[in-house]
Order: sequence, then structure tokens, then C-alpha cells
Amino acid sequence: MLLRMKSPSLPPDWSKVHFPVECARCGHDLFGRDEPTCPACQLEFDWSDAVPLDQLKCNECGYALMGLTEQRCPECGAAFTWEDAVANHRRRAAPLFENRWREAFLRSWFTSLWWAVRPHRLWRDVSVRDTPSMAPLFIMVAVSLLAMCLLVSGQLICQWSFTSWTRGIIVPEYWAQILTRAFSHGAQVAIYAGFWECLVLLLMLPHGQFIQPVSPRKAHIVRIWAYSVCMYGNICFAIVSVLMETINGMQHLLGISQDAQYAASVAVLITWAISYSLVPFGMHRGFRQYLRVSYSWAIALATLFLSFVVFSAIMGLISRL
Ligand SMILES: [Zn+2]
Ligand SMILES: [Zn+2]
Repeated sequence: MLLRMKSPSLPPDWSKVHFPVECARCGHDLFGRDEPTCPACQLEFDWSDAVPLDQLKCNECGYALMGLTEQRCPECGAAFTWEDAVANHRRRAAPLFENRWREAFLRSWFTSLWWAVRPHRLWRDVSVRDTPSMAPLFIMVAVSLLAMCLLVSGQLICQWSFTSWTRGIIVPEYWAQILTRAFSHGAQVAIYAGFWECLVLLLMLPHGQFIQPVSPRKAHIVRIWAYSVCMYGNICFAIVSVLMETINGMQHLLGISQDAQYAASVAVLITWAISYSLVPFGMHRGFRQYLRVSYSWAIALATLFLSFVVFSAIMGLISRL
């Protein structure tokens, strides 16, 4: 059997590196070092990945920038900064919302959702070296809450308008009422979900202090939260509540027997439980694969459990007021 030997990771020629090189996980300065291991948090890495000198290209014409002393492309004359060239190189790797939201808003959002459904793939291809930008991550979460609101209210609009049509009620005021009620219900569901997600994030952030000696940056934790809790969680929750409401509605409309409706609801609930378990799984993969934290399952399960306890307590208090 042929054993594939991993070639040793050689340090770059530091005289050609004109940008800061930090540990992707903890931010420790790595400039001028030889060993491909962070002395502060022991993260092992590859020098070709940490300092992608031969991958850096002009953003305008694609000219290879390695070895240049002036920050101007000799091919097309465009000015550049080394930091931007490194950031652009990392961005090219993943067509996600955080990297492409300006050029392809909806397409990159759907790509991000599709990647969020497969955490293994997501955390393999999203590098811890690519520093997350917080603004697009929060916009991505807001869009997922909006999508949730539209899915839930869209289902109610279809259901109620079908009911009124079968009963022969076509009065403009009634339609206005349907729209208002449906959207206010959808918004309420999205607000509750958003509130729970904020709680989860508040519970996740302090983990940075406890995960010693790793101590990851907060932006990395926000990234794990955005994909595993919000992107996947919101859409999964919306689809399941749409299914449940459709089954309820069909029972009233078509007179399906109580037993058949009960069986269908149980099937939906089981689907919900199985698909929702991807939320802790995604969090676990994020902490393990992306941040290389060893007790990732404990973090994921404890955070979600605590968040549900606190959420139910707050909701109970609100309903009593
Ligand atoms: Zn480090
Ligand atoms: Zn150029």
C-alpha cells in the first residue's frame, strides 16, 4: 500500500511578506516564525494556507502579486493593499452571503442556506483564516427571519383565502383582514425566533473565555451561531410550521378524519425532531471542525438546553403580566 506523505509545511520567505500574519483562531502574531504551530493556542496550520503568497492576485486583472515591492499592479496599474489582496483571496474560496452579498444578494443567501444544511461541508470549506465580517452575517440572519415570516404568513394567506373562496366570501375588507392577520402572525413567529436566537448568542459568546487555551475571537462564534442556529434553524422551523398548519387547515376544509390528521401531525413532529437535531449537530461541527475545540458536543447541548430554559421562563413571565 502506498502511503501518502504530507509534505512538511515550510515557512514563507518573510522578506516578501508585507502584511501582518496572525493566528487565525486567537490572533497571536506569527510573523517571522518557523514552526507551523501557534505558540499561544497550539493551533496547527499550514504555512501555504496562513501566508498564501503565491495565490495573491490583482483584483482587477488577476496578475500574480508575489514579489512586488510597490503596491501597484504592473499589468493594469491598479493600486492595492496587501491586506485587501489576502482578504480577496480568502473570499474567492467560498461563494457565501458574507463574501458575495453585494454582487449576488439572493443567490449567495440560498448558497449559504444550502451549505448550512450540510455542516460538515460548510466547516470544511469555510476557513478559520477568513476573518468573518459581522455586518453581512447579521444581515444574513435578518433575511432568514424575514423568509420565515413570509413562509408562515404566505401559508396562512393561502389557507384563509381558500377557505373564504370555498364559502363564497369575496369582500375586499375581508381580504385586507386576511393579509393583516397573516402578516402579524408571521411577524410574531419571527420575533419570537429572533429573540430566542439572541439568547443563544448571548449564551455562546462567553464560551470564548472558557475554551482555554483556545480563546477564539468573538467573530468566529458569531459565524457558527449564524449558520447553525439561525440559517438552518429558522428555515427548518418555518417549513415545519407551514406543514402543520396545512394539515390543520386540510382537516377543516376536506373533513379528513381526526385519526388521519393526528397521524399526519405525529409524522410532521418526528420529521421536525430529526431535522431540528441538525441545530446542535451544526454547532458541534462548528466548534470541533472550524475552531478545533474538543468538547464541542457539551457546548452545543448545554447552550441549547439553557437557552430553552431561559426562553420558557421569560415567556412564562411575559404571559403572566
Ligand atoms: Zn493561536
Ligand atoms: Zn492588475
